[in-house]
Amino acid sequence: MEKAKFESGVVIGAGVVGLAIAAELSACGLCRELWVIEKEEGFGRGSSARNSEVIHAGIYYPPESLKARLCIEGRERLYALCRRHEIPCSAIGKLIIAVESRDIEDLQHLQENARSCGVTLQELSLQEVARLEPSLRCSAALYSPLTGIIDSHALMRFFYREAVRNDTQFVFNTAVTAIEGRGDRYGIETVAASGEPFTLEAGLIINAAGLHSDEIAGLAGMDYRLHWCKGCYFSVSQDKAGLCSHLIYPAISKGFAGLGVHLTFDLSGRMKLGPDAEYIDRVEDYSVPEHRREAFCAAARYLPFLQPEDLSPEMAGIRSKLQGPGDPFADFVIRQDRPGFVNCVGIESPGLTSAPAIAAYVKGLLTAA
Ligand SMILES: Cc1cc2nc3c(=O)[nH]c(=O)nc-3n(C[C@H](O)[C@H](O)[C@H](O)COP(=O)(O)OP(=O)(O)OC[C@H]3O[C@@H](n4cnc5c(N)ncnc54)[C@H](O)[C@@H]3O)c2cc1C
Repeated sequence: MEKAKFESGVVIGAGVVGLAIAAELSACGLCRELWVIEKEEGFGRGSSARNSEVIHAGIYYPPESLKARLCIEGRERLYALCRRHEIPCSAIGKLIIAVESRDIEDLQHLQENARSCGVTLQELSLQEVARLEPSLRCSAALYSPLTGIIDSHALMRFFYREAVRNDTQFVFNTAVTAIEGRGDRYGIETVAASGEPFTLEAGLIINAAGLHSDEIAGLAGMDYRLHWCKGCYFSVSQDKAGLCSHLIYPAISKGFAGLGVHLTFDLSGRMKLGPDAEYIDRVEDYSVPEHRREAFCAAARYLPFLQPEDLSPEMAGIRSKLQGPGDPFADFVIRQDRPGFVNCVGIESPGLTSAPAIAAYVKGLLTAA
């Protein structure tokens, strides 16, 4: 246990990132007192509860980027955590496919990028594809054996329990509304759902407020701008259960806002399609327009057995992106922008996979001289 460097610290946001950080920091004794402030009535109600629950291998991002490095490290840490603490997960593997022959170039770019990142993707012959997924239609495919699925709620419960076991105080139903510097400390104003205000002081702030992390940084005079990008999911009728057994992702061209409408599973084997990608105004609207059923079915033309009536609106999530429409790649921002003030901004996918590595990275920022 290290000597406490901070009398008190506050993590803003109890999504998977804030929870992983709280578990990590509370275990190493960097703060004498650690608080997590969350505006919702419980943990894991934001993007962390509205995603594909995929443990990514780390193949899509520029090799030296934080997204690539923390995804690869996070994936290894996640599988180890799951093994050690019986958190449900399964390394079911993923096929990345060129649906038409014109998509093969995108697949080759991905293969090169994965190689530069040090991640293995196996080239499959069409006979091997047919053996693995007889119902799939594609022109070429790569196989990622390291990709899997996880019960994200069980993971968050684990981090929450670890943090509580190490005396972290969770304050739910309470939003951070103002932050001011007070010498080497920060004054943090909060308002509870009942309307009751409360101010606390801390030498350390970790901003893990997801979609609102740019606003939290803004409260302390730091300038970030997030773009919100919504992704809807449709569940696939149980009649079609068992027709596929791997995650299936189409190859995407550079600059696409998501990873393409893909086929995922939860741990009970239920299939879902999604997410699409639509930049939206800053409104937390999680409705799934039923009329998109046809568009989803068309996007998943690599699954010829699917009919629009097999799909039912399931849920939506919103990505917090530093990359606006048409912008080049934007990396995670995980930075100590002011002494004792760490911003985690733009933690979109692969944020779930990266969470334990992000937590270790934040600890590293704070323990560095
Ligand atoms: C559609 C979609 C699919 C995805 N699929 C995957 C995937 O398969 N694999 C993967 O690795 N990643 C995936 N991701 C990314 C992953 O879900 C996110 O990176 C991760 O959940 C971000 O966690 P977080 O803790 O930063 O944010 P959140 O989970 O959003 O948590 C932030 C918390 O801060 C709280 N908060 C905000 N403002 C305040 C305030 N003022 N005061 C107090 N509390 C506040 C919020 O209520 C919220 O609980 C996906 C994301 C989306 C949207």
